Amino acid sequence: MTNYWTETVSRLTPYVPGEQRSGADIVKLNTNENPYPPSPRVMEAIAAVSGDQLRRYPDPESVALRTVLAEYHGLDVSQVFVGNGSDEILALAFLAYFTNHKVLQFPDISYSFYPVYCDLYGIEARTVALTDDYVLPIESFEPNAGGIVFPNPNAPTALAAEESAIAGLLVRHTEQVLLVDEAYAGFGASSVVGLVNRFPNLLVSQTYSKSRSLAGMRLGVALGHPTLIEGLQRVKNSFNSYPVDALAQAAGIASIQDDTYYRKTIDQVIETRRQTVSGLQKRGFEVLPSSANFVFAKAPGGEAGKIFSELDKAGVLVRYWDKPRLNEWLRISIGTDDEMMRLMTALDA
Ligand SMILES: *Cc1c(COP(=O)(O)O)cnc(C)c1O
Repeated sequence: MTNYWTETVSRLTPYVPGEQRSGADIVKLNTNENPYPPSPRVMEAIAAVSGDQLRRYPDPESVALRTVLAEYHGLDVSQVFVGNGSDEILALAFLAYFTNHKVLQFPDISYSFYPVYCDLYGIEARTVALTDDYVLPIESFEPNAGGIVFPNPNAPTALAAEESAIAGLLVRHTEQVLLVDEAYAGFGASSVVGLVNRFPNLLVSQTYSKSRSLAGMRLGVALGHPTLIEGLQRVKNSFNSYPVDALAQAAGIASIQDDTYYRKTIDQVIETRRQTVSGLQKRGFEVLPSSANFVFAKAPGGEAGKIFSELDKAGVLVRYWDKPRLNEWLRISIGTDDEMMRLMTALDA
């Protein structure tokens, strides 16, 4: 049967998200969700949203939320953009800055959504190879040859780059946008938000999905020069004027206002990560130093595929890629202490 897809749609290779399997006995360590719920103040703020607020359209520019975020980051509201998850922000940013007939550079091992957007928009990609130790060689990006995007810390390696190395790149790279994807900000890497006032071509994106326990809400933030933010607004308002709904705006404000809860949750995840690393090392895994809420671990004997399937049968979900340089490794999200104990028990079995 003929389908009615355009040529572009026919040749897409869409992104495949981690499996959302549910069940009482499932230990879900495969999509880097936060094991703890959002702040009680977030739940109260969502419950307090009125029928009138749902009957009406939300504020299209999310001014109240952006004002709270601007204050939190020490920026002006004109330097803040919010979107329906940071994936949406990436999609808008690629269209706004990278469909310029230049190449887009990103690491060969990194967030697998970047090549998908390139495919969708027809952007030519050039990858920069990680070193044998999986480190991102920032000096290997070619300044001004085209845009640059990378996650910091990188995914799935969890390794963070130094702020000074990124600042050095920005000094050399002035003609194109550098997009730093800080999806895992808060878990140990230093943020480059402090560089936003110095470099008009730096866009930093962050998400509420990981450190702020709101993956189900879909909320992302971008911070940058007002001109970059205006570019995102122009694309947003040519696509969907209301990407952030009333519930997400209320939840986002409440989350930022409860910094004590945020820090407590992060500290707990970091402590559990420390114990997980030592538990994995005792069992013969090699673990890269993590600045994220997951660890990247090389299986003993390189048997990651086999361990992945056995864990899956035991109801412990982790992430595995059957690809060169990744196929001996597992990416394991940090859950609660109890969930990590169940991982260790399953590994021992
Ligand atoms: C999780 C993740 C995102 C997407 O986050 P959402 O806000 O949930 O869309 C973007 N980039 C990286 C590197 C991620 O790991």
